[in-house]
Amino acid sequence: MNDCLFCKIIAGEIPSSKVYEDEKVFAFRDINPQAPVHVLVVPKQHLDSANAISEENIDAVSACWKAIPKIAAGEGLSGGYRVINNCGAAAGQTVMHIHFHLVGGRELGEKIV
Ligand code: AMP
Ligand code: ZN
Repeated sequence: MNDCLFCKIIAGEIPSSKVYEDEKVFAFRDINPQAPVHVLVVPKQHLDSANAISEENIDAVSACWKAIPKIAAGEGLSGGYRVINNCGAAAGQTVMHIHFHLVGGRELGEKIV
């Protein structure tokens, strides 16, 4: 029984605003955007967090990184963008399916936190 929110979104069981999909990657708009563009880039393969990355599943993660510049270009982020991964509760990870926040569309501060 898979109770993961993002697995359900990828499967189409929960609606989302999809912006990109390929064989290994699904990307959709964050429900609570922190910038004019705030897209979650998610591997279709379930990994709990960055701590679960291994030699066996690194392809799923690199597929996200291959997709990120394409998604950014599609969103018109020619001036730049930021990619954030929260790993674990202390970093604010609330959904335990690894994901990359792609944010942009406004001047982002110099500081990450
Ligand atoms: P994190 O805090 O890094 O785990 O990020 C989880 C993100 O998922 C948050 O920015 C939420 O706003 C977002 N989120 C939660 N539920 C949904 C949903 N149903 N559709 C889109 N984004 C969501
Ligand atoms: Zn999942």
